[in-house]
Formats: sequence, structure tokens, C-alpha cells
Amino acid sequence: MHSPDVSSALEHWTQLLGPQFVQSDPETLHAAGTATFATHQKIRAVLRPADRDQIIGCLRIATQFRIPLYPISTGKNWGYGSRVPPRDGCALLDVSRLDRILSFDEDLGYVTVEPGVTQRQLFAFLKERGSRLWMDATGSSPDCSLIGNVLERGFGHTPYGDHFAHVCGLEVVLPSGQIIHTGAARFAGSKTGEISRWGVGPSLDGLFSQSNFGIVTRMTIWLMPKPEAFEAFFFRCESAGGLAPLIDSLRRLRMHEVLRSSIHIANDYKVLGGIEQYPWEEMKGRTPISPADMAVFREKLGFGYWNASGALYGTQAQISEAKRLLTRELREQAGQLKFLSPQKLRLAKRFAVAFHLMTRWDLRRTIALVEPVLGLMQGEPMSASQALRSAYWRKRTPLPADPDPDRDKCGLLWYAPVAPAKGEDVRQLVDLASDILLRSGFEPMISLTLLTPRTVYAVLSLTYDREVPGEDEKAMTCYGQLREACTRAGYFPYRLGIHSMAALPEQAAYQQLVWKLKQAIDPEMILAPGRYDSGITE
Ligand SMILES: Cc1cc2nc3c(=O)[nH]c(=O)nc-3n(C[C@H](O)[C@H](O)[C@H](O)COP(=O)(O)OP(=O)(O)OC[C@H]3O[C@@H](n4cnc5c(N)ncnc54)[C@H](O)[C@@H]3O)c2cc1C
Repeated sequence: MHSPDVSSALEHWTQLLGPQFVQSDPETLHAAGTATFATHQKIRAVLRPADRDQIIGCLRIATQFRIPLYPISTGKNWGYGSRVPPRDGCALLDVSRLDRILSFDEDLGYVTVEPGVTQRQLFAFLKERGSRLWMDATGSSPDCSLIGNVLERGFGHTPYGDHFAHVCGLEVVLPSGQIIHTGAARFAGSKTGEISRWGVGPSLDGLFSQSNFGIVTRMTIWLMPKPEAFEAFFFRCESAGGLAPLIDSLRRLRMHEVLRSSIHIANDYKVLGGIEQYPWEEMKGRTPISPADMAVFREKLGFGYWNASGALYGTQAQISEAKRLLTRELREQAGQLKFLSPQKLRLAKRFAVAFHLMTRWDLRRTIALVEPVLGLMQGEPMSASQALRSAYWRKRTPLPADPDPDRDKCGLLWYAPVAPAKGEDVRQLVDLASDILLRSGFEPMISLTLLTPRTVYAVLSLTYDREVPGEDEKAMTCYGQLREACTRAGYFPYRLGIHSMAALPEQAAYQQLVWKLKQAIDPEMILAPGRYDSGITE
């Protein structure tokens, strides 16, 4: 193989895009190669095409000069590798300048977007139009893209929380420069390209998620109609033992569609990390917070060992009935169930100061905590500082006004295994993960999401300060142990970080098939080498 001719490629890309959209200065390349954990990949350039034709041109030049391209939408894939490609020597293809909302249908509930469209942008778009449709937002920054998240099969909080399950009509630029549309969108003149996922024949959508087969340049995302009524609920259990029966109850309610959205359950560590930075003073500089210390924080700050939140969506009558069924299901369990509607929240806000004066109970703190959660449940993205606070958990400097976990050397690695929605399974997963995390010196911050009626997506976070010598290595060792223990017990991840994409024990025939597809679609291996590949190289 010839070695890549980087300077000629840069010249050609510069001619195509204009000098301001081709960057190769050391500072830019260093920033682009920095994630929330240790990375060593060298990046050749950052390219910022303006449209689909320029993307095709970039691919042609990349193929000619043998420099692989790594496409990103907004590149905020924090905890999984940010913008960094899994392999050395790529040029980043940052497609965030393609940021148009191309079509919108209030009746059929969809929007067609380009990859640079962010959560903030779609939320503002819907608000401006006075739309009665809700988007589904993640708990990450409002400036994250919609498409990058969908392609990672990320998730959010409403009944449309399983993002990849609510999209269709992908437009994809293949490594050859050809363009395809998926589902019914591939028929010229089709009236159902935005609403009919399958079309006829083989369905290809899945091939372009968590893969390196194409650059997605547009996608239709379905939006949910605003329900007549909405009410959130919160349930907390005070002991570890409360988790298994809670999961079994929530599964029953999800299976019978009493609950129609993803339900989130956070442990005490996760809640504390969402409220404040590490309590260095109270802990006298020691890490990690032990379970005994955590009991004191729980008591002081008033949250539970496990803290569940979810919402009811429907007509007023449906919500009343769901409340009755939820109350009945959770009656036997030791925990507190509370309902909160937006109207009640508004009232609490109005009277919080008077209430504090009368009772000395500072409701304002609870309101500040609960308000963004209620927003997410109605498809409203959080502010960047609300969303990214937890990434600064172990930092000794305060959360900046413009948080950027890569720049600020926040240490963050997610491991996200999936378990059956059965109490015993989830308990086993949580026990083994908590044990490994605590023994490795990290707080076991765990969130559990009943994303579908049958599955629980756990997100185990390893949060640390990259400026403390040795912590990067310690976190990576702990991650390896978590992955090993979880997969041995049968809990495989739903999504991977760039450092671990070839490490799962997969079926050989499956690996070979994926590899054959890659060879057929991308014979020059020009697109995102190493991204979710199975480790086969021949
Ligand atoms: C505190 C915190 C909370 C978070 N909460 C959530 C959460 O609730 N849910 C969740 O899912 N995630 C969450 N995340 C993780 C992450 O920030 C989001 O998933 C985010 O949306 C991903 O970044 P992005 O949208 O910029 O995607 P990108 O980084 O642009 O894309 C992700 C990957 O997809 C591929 N890709 C992107 N665009 C294209 C394209 N056009 N064509 C082909 N391939 C492409 C690339 O390989 C890229 O690396 C959280 C992170 C933090 C730090």
C-alpha cells in the first residue's frame, strides 16, 4: 500500500472547500483528538464541507490520496470518544454545516433534518411555529446533533425515547460517492418516504447505525403529538433491596402499556453527581465516597437509595386510570410515590419563598432539580450547564459557564450494558458493577432505563479528573474489568466507546458477514476504519 500523500490531499480539499474549512494546525488537531479519556490517535485534518456535493468531493480526494475520513455530526459523543476516530491517520469530516430543517409535517408528526441540526435548533423550531408536536431530547447538551445520536442508537425520555426506532428515510452517501435513500424514500415520487420505514424488500436502515458503511446526510425523525394531559411521577426506595421488586413492577406496567415512556432509575451516587461536584471538604479530600458516607449525603440532601422518575401521557381520563394502577402496583413496596404536574410545579414555584419562610423547608432546591427533568419528559432539552454538570464531578474547579468536557480534561467513560427487565437480573448487574467500581476507587454512579418494556439499559459511569496523574490508566483498567464481568454474566452493551469497538466475543459467521459487507461497500476502506468493526482485517 502507498503511504498517504497528506499535503496533496490538503491542497485538493482546500481548493474544494476553501481555506477556512480545512484545518490542519496543531492546536485544532490536538483539540479534535482529545476525548474524556486517554486517546493517542493522530488526526490529519478537520474538513467542514457545506453540502452533499462537497462531501462527495471530499470522499473522492480521500480515496485518491488514501486518507480515511471519519464523519461526525456535532462530535459531542462524550464518554464514548467525543470526536476522536478509533484509528490513527483519519481526517475528520465534520458535517455540522449541513444544518437545515428540510421538511416538517404537523399532521403526520415528522421533521426531516440534516446532520448539523441540534436539539436546541429543533426545539426552537417547534416552539416558533407553535407546534403541538414534541421532540424527544437526550440528557446531553442542547448543542448535540439529532442524527449523530440516532446513529449511535442513543435514547431519551418520552414515549419516543428509543431514537432509532422513530426514524426513517435515511439519505446516505456511500464511500463510492453514490447516494441512496432507504425505505419508501427510495421510490421517486413516493408519498410515504417520511413515514413508511420498511418500503418493500430488504430493510437497510440498520446497516447505517453503529457502522462505517456511509455518511448520513438527511433523516426523517418522528415527533409525538402533545398529549391532552401529562403528569410526572417520582418514586424512591430507601434501601438496595427495593430495586428488584421495583423493576418487576415497572416491567408489568410497561408491558401492559400503563407506562408508555422510558422510565429512569438513578442510584444515590448518580443523583448526587447531578446536583453538585464532589464534596471534597466533607470527604476531607478522600475518594471514593463509601456506601456509609453516601448514607449521610442521602439523609442530608433528601434523596433515596434508588430514585425512579417517569411520566404519564394521554387524556385526563387515561392519566387518572394510570395513576390508580401505578399506585396499586407500587402499594406493596417500601417507597414513596409522588405525582407532579406542570401546573403543580408552577404553583410550587410561586409560593416557594413564602413556603420557606413558614416551614424552613427550602422547596427552591427541589424545584431546581425537578424542573429540568419535567422538561426532558416533555421533550425540552436541558441547558448545557444542567446537562454537563455531572461530567465535572471530580473536578476541583467550578463548572464553567461554557462547559466543554474534552477541553476541561473531565474524565468520563460510560459502559452501557443491557439487562432483561427482571428484578433479579438488574440486581445482579448492579451488584457486580458497584463492587468493581468501588474497589477501583470510583463512585458507582448508575442509571437504569426501562427503554422498552422488556429491557433495562444500564449506564455505568466512570467519572474522574484527567488532571490527576494515573487516573486515566486506572479508569481504563476498571472499564476493562466492568466489560469482562458484565459480558461474562450475559449483559452486553448497547453502544461502545472508540477504545473498545473490536473487543466483544461475537459469533464468527456474523463478523464475517459484516466484514464482507464492508468490503463490498467500501473496498478502499476509506470510511471510519475501526468503527464498530469486529476486529477482522483480512
Ligand atoms: C452528561 C452527559 C449526558 C448524556 N446523556 C445522554 C443521553 O441521555 N442519551 C444519549 O444517547 N447520550 C447521552 N450522552 C452521550 C452523548 O453526548 C450523546 O449521545 C450525543 O448526542 C452524541 O454526540 P453527537 O450528537 O455530537 O454525535 P456525533 O459525535 O456527531 O456522532 C456520534 C458518532 O456517530 C457517527 N456519525 C455521526 N454523524 C454521522 C453521519 N452524518 N454519518 C455517518 N456517521 C455519523 C460517528 O462515528 C460519530 O462518532 C451524554 C453525555 C454526557 C456527557
